Amino acid sequence: MTLDDCRALDHADPLRELRDLFTLPDGVIYLDGNSLGVMPTATPARVADVVAQEWGNGLIRSWNTASWIDMPQRLGNKLARLIGAAPDEVMCTDSTSINLYKVLFAAMSQAIDSGEPQRRTVVSERSNFPTDLYIAESLCRERGFTLKLVERVEDIPAALTPEVAVLMLTHVNYRTGVMHDMAALTEAAHAAGALTVWDLAHSAGAVPVKLNACNADFAIGCGYKYLNGGPGAPAFVWVNARHASRFEQPLSGWFGHAAPFAFTPHYQPAPGAARYLCGTQPIISLSALECGLDTVLAAEPFNADGEPMSALRIKSLALTDAFIALIEARCPGRFTLVTPREHGQRGSQVCLAMADAAEAQGNAAYAIVQALIARGVIGDFRAGDAQTPHILRFGFTPLYLSFEDVWHSVEHFVQVLEKEEWRRPEFNQKNAVT
Ligand SMILES: *Cc1c(COP(=O)(O)O)cnc(C)c1O
Repeated sequence: MTLDDCRALDHADPLRELRDLFTLPDGVIYLDGNSLGVMPTATPARVADVVAQEWGNGLIRSWNTASWIDMPQRLGNKLARLIGAAPDEVMCTDSTSINLYKVLFAAMSQAIDSGEPQRRTVVSERSNFPTDLYIAESLCRERGFTLKLVERVEDIPAALTPEVAVLMLTHVNYRTGVMHDMAALTEAAHAAGALTVWDLAHSAGAVPVKLNACNADFAIGCGYKYLNGGPGAPAFVWVNARHASRFEQPLSGWFGHAAPFAFTPHYQPAPGAARYLCGTQPIISLSALECGLDTVLAAEPFNADGEPMSALRIKSLALTDAFIALIEARCPGRFTLVTPREHGQRGSQVCLAMADAAEAQGNAAYAIVQALIARGVIGDFRAGDAQTPHILRFGFTPLYLSFEDVWHSVEHFVQVLEKEEWRRPEFNQKNAVT
């Protein structure tokens, strides 16, 4: 693959003009949209208008006149189509961690209500995102459950024993880029009498998700990654309609009440997914999230059959294929590919580890990422431990990345390695956020 090949791919790319929806700093190739999405060009003016007009002039009236009160649901309806959910099943609210607390609690309730005292295990992966494991740890401790962590993807089906109440997985693993088979694992969990909780942090806006077609039970996900909602953007929560009014969630605040403005002293959960709201919503942040959602919807991410994410997925796979091919051709022997080559198992990111055993546990991965960032190629680093290598992680967002970007990012890789730039002391000092 040559630079001219990349330019030809860009020329034929039906999504290439969507880059104009974003404000990217000059000289930056941004391969970290899986951690914090790029700012949509529409966001500053929209947020300024919400502040100056809706808040400044409208004041309290804007809860009605600017429909602030409906925002979690209205935004949820925009997002629903991207994740294979139906209208009014999704709420944009709170953080991913907090939403996980709510839905995992609700999912555990089925086992408690069922009168099967032995069904007290939550299964997840040891390599799941830490906040997911920490939230599960805390809920398991509080409710007398055991958290069982499997080491390898292949071990999940065998872990679904009659003790399992909930299978809690992140659909696309944050440090490997492995995408699970949601339909098959959901079916296996149901066959074992368990419910599923899916974290879509690296899926929503990145890969096709079909929650209802997979008959999943609960899902949550992140607003500031591929949905471009801005730092700390509100997250989302989805509940299968057959469970939505069945369980209570533990953060029973007034926005999840059946009649918040009746001001009654006792909690009565709202019917449906609205009960997964808690308190007053962050309107300014929700308005920024809406601008982000609109960028994904601008890709017309549905084919004629209404299948979500088709054009975005095709380009995402082509970008990650090109990156893998160029890294292997131009930096031979230096890196091991951690992300699967099989399209069906790959998210929208590519994760590399150092091929050399000493380098894999040493500082090289971190320092190479720092040297690339200094050159304007922004990816990130995820620390490993004695069993797992350090990871160089690169997210590919088809909305604003070109094939030429991929070419130049690998050219910078070559330079960083050939000139041994990464050995400089300034690239070997750890920052607080990696
Ligand atoms: C990014 C991410 C989160 C983030 O949770 P916050 O509550 O926003 O900090 C959670 N889970 C996974 C799998 C993630 O990738």
